[in-house]
Order: sequence, then C-alpha cells, then structure tokens
Amino acid sequence: MATLVKKFGGSSVATPEKMHGIVDRILRERQPDDRIVLVVSAMGDHTDDLLTLAAKVNPEMPKRELDMLLATGEQVSIALMASAFCAKGQPAVSFTGAQAGIKTNDKHSKASILDVQACQVKQALDEGKIVIVAGFQGITDLGQITTLGRGGSDTTAVAIAAGLKADMCDIYTDVDGVYTADPRIVPGAQKLDEITFVEMLELARLGAGVMQPRAVEYGEHNGVAIHVRSTFNDVPGTIIREEYTVQEKNFVIRGVAHDTNVAKIAVRGVSDEPGIAYKIFSALAEANIDVDMIVQSASATDHKNDILFTVTQTDMVEAMSVIESLKETMHFDKADIEVNVAKVSIVGAGMLGSPGIAAGMFGALAKANVNIDVISTSEISVSCLVPEKDVKTAVNAIHEHFFPEGAK
Ligand code: ADP
Ligand code: ASP
Ligand code: MG
Repeated sequence: MATLVKKFGGSSVATPEKMHGIVDRILRERQPDDRIVLVVSAMGDHTDDLLTLAAKVNPEMPKRELDMLLATGEQVSIALMASAFCAKGQPAVSFTGAQAGIKTNDKHSKASILDVQACQVKQALDEGKIVIVAGFQGITDLGQITTLGRGGSDTTAVAIAAGLKADMCDIYTDVDGVYTADPRIVPGAQKLDEITFVEMLELARLGAGVMQPRAVEYGEHNGVAIHVRSTFNDVPGTIIREEYTVQEKNFVIRGVAHDTNVAKIAVRGVSDEPGIAYKIFSALAEANIDVDMIVQSASATDHKNDILFTVTQTDMVEAMSVIESLKETMHFDKADIEVNVAKVSIVGAGMLGSPGIAAGMFGALAKANVNIDVISTSEISVSCLVPEKDVKTAVNAIHEHFFPEGAK
C-alpha cells in the first residue's frame, strides 16, 4: 500500500477535458490499495485573471482581501476535479487548504506553512476516497485565509506529502521534468534525470519557475521524495534527491536560470557612516520584502554612497514606499527604480572546486555582446543582472558555453 501525493499545475487542469484526462490516467495507473491525494492549482491563467480584476478595482488591494480573492481560484478546480472522479464512479472529496489542515503564519500573499494537521484528509483516505486538496492556500491560527506566493501549490503538495509520510510526491506539469534551462527559452535544453535538493533550490530561487523554492526547501527538510514529470505523457521525469546516484558523472554546472521579475532600486547619496545599510535593509525586512543582490558604490570625494539592490517587481512599489518613509530619519539624495533588467544565473555544486567557471560565464556574455550590470555569487551559483531585452540571448549564450550540443 502506497501513499501518493500528485500535484497538477494550472495548465494541467486548464479545461474539463484535461481534468478528465488526469482522472483516467490516475484510475488506470493506480494499484488497488494506493492512497491518493491530488493537489491542484487554479485552472489555466485563472490566478492572473483574478489579479487583473483586483487591480481594476483597487491597484493597492489590501493583502488580506487579495488572499480571499485568489484562494477562490483553487476552490473552483478542486470541486471540479472531485466531481470528475465521481463521474467515473470513483468516490472523491475536495478540501480547501483550511480543511486539509494547512496551518500558516499570517504573512498574507506569501505565507509560510507552519504545520499540516491532515486529520480530515486521512479520514477520507481511510474511507477509500481520492482526496483533492486546494494548492496555494492555508489558514492562520485566527482563521484567516492566506496564500503561499506564486507557484505555492508545489509547496502545498510537498507539505501534504510530508504530513502524510507519503512514499512519493509527483509534481506533474507541462514539461517533462527539470531541464538545464527553461526549455521554452533554450531549445537545446536537456532534461536532467536527477538533481540534488541543494541545486534545485538554488535554480528555483534564481528563477527556474518549474518548482517554488519553498517546496524544494520543505522537501529537503522533511526528506520528501519528489518527482517532477509531465502531465501529458508517461516519460520518467526528474527526481529531486539528497545526493546523486550516478557517481561517475562529474557535474559542474547543472543549469542556467533566468528571472525577469526583477527591479533594481538605487538609493543615491546616502552618508558614508555606520548603520546606514542596517537602517535600509532592516526596514525592508520588517515589511517582509526579500532583497536579492546588494551593491554599495562609494564616491571618493563627498563621503556619500549609492546603495543598489534588487527585489521582485511584485514587491517594488512597497519597497519604494519603505525607502521613501526612511527619508524622515535618514538623509539621501534620491531613490530610483529600474525595471528593464533581468537576472541570469548558473548553478552547480561542482563549481566550488572549479576555478574559471564565473569567467566562462562572463566570456559567453561578452561574446554575445551582453552588458553585465550587477554580479553576485553564492557557493554554488553566479548571477548577472543584464538588460531585460537581452535575456534570451544571454541565457542561450551561457547555456551553449556550459552545455555544448550533445553533452549531458
Ligand atoms: P505549473 O502550472 O504546472 O505549476 P509552471 O508554469 O509553474 O507550471 O512551471 C512549469 C514551467 O517552468 C515550464 O513550462 C517552463 O517554461 C518553466 N521552467 C523554467 N525553468 C525551467 C527548467 N529549468 N526546467 C523545466 N521547466 C522550467
Ligand atoms: N495558482 C497559483 C499561481 O498561479 C498557485 C500555483 O499555481 O501554484 O501562482
Ligand atoms: Mg508552478
């Protein structure tokens, strides 16, 4: 008897026909004793449509109300999916995040899962039902509905899998697995049979939208076996695991990621004195805004600095208002924002002991005539901020350098 959690993203459940396709596949593939939980996203572009609607009513919609609105998207798909199973004679029941016991903190729009109390889910499984859980949403201690950030259904699935001690968490999507780059941008991208949690987390964090970073993190901390695979065929996908099983391969770079949801904010003319960076970044942290690249450039003459950093475009309006609010207590000349930028990154645990990797990336960009703005590094990644118009050229040039045709 296996407990299996299967997550289907928006494009996988976009139409009634696709929903019936999923039902047929699950009923065909399952073993008699399998306990099956499906986690589903909102249908197709429903979440984007709700966001557009929200912006028309109030461009600065209170986050609590936005969560109320966005959580309805997943509620549509769970009810339809459960009904699709019932139409084929298979008992099934749908649960919202709250009913499935997804307990979160109160950070509306990017809440974190604190606990999973899946008693209703377990009971329904005991009764022989297939359980359909709404992804992307949870509930606080005080009964407030929250959402988990874009792509959050991945995290719901991994958390449910951890809560049920599932044997496998399948992330079904519209590509065959995790590739060496986004296959929609790089035609020659290669599918990876396996990838470590650490590398997948870094790729996801740097923009590889195939998995939400928090899902990978949750999987790693709770030892959940994750298989990223296609909804539309049976080809084996990519297994995310602790360590590689293929020892003889000496992987250096595992993938190239890109992210266009980036805004660069510059706070110009801040005093060159202790405590300034602390003031800026603690205020941003207080507002729950993730800051990514940070650069300080000093002016030799007037004891003033420019502090540049990047945030997601989703957070940029709030970040700018945090910066403006600091004007009362901290002097600076001005703050400006640039949105026509993108981040390209290479990721691989093997780069640790391989000098010249960063130079290879910069060389590829130079050859492609792409100008680099900010550079940042971690132990297993190098990232460059480039003009947004050049992102496709940049990703392809870097991919070509590290993954020449035919190599894997
Ligand atoms: P879902 O709706 O199933 O959650 P997403 O759109 O969130 O699907 O994620 C799948 C998409 O992730 C793919 O269509 C692909 O364009 C994108 N993607 C970005 N980077 C990668 C990568 N390295 N490997 C595979 N897919 C990637
Ligand atoms: N529906 C949400 C989104 O579009 C959550 C998800 O798809 O994972 O981001
Ligand atoms: Mg997704």
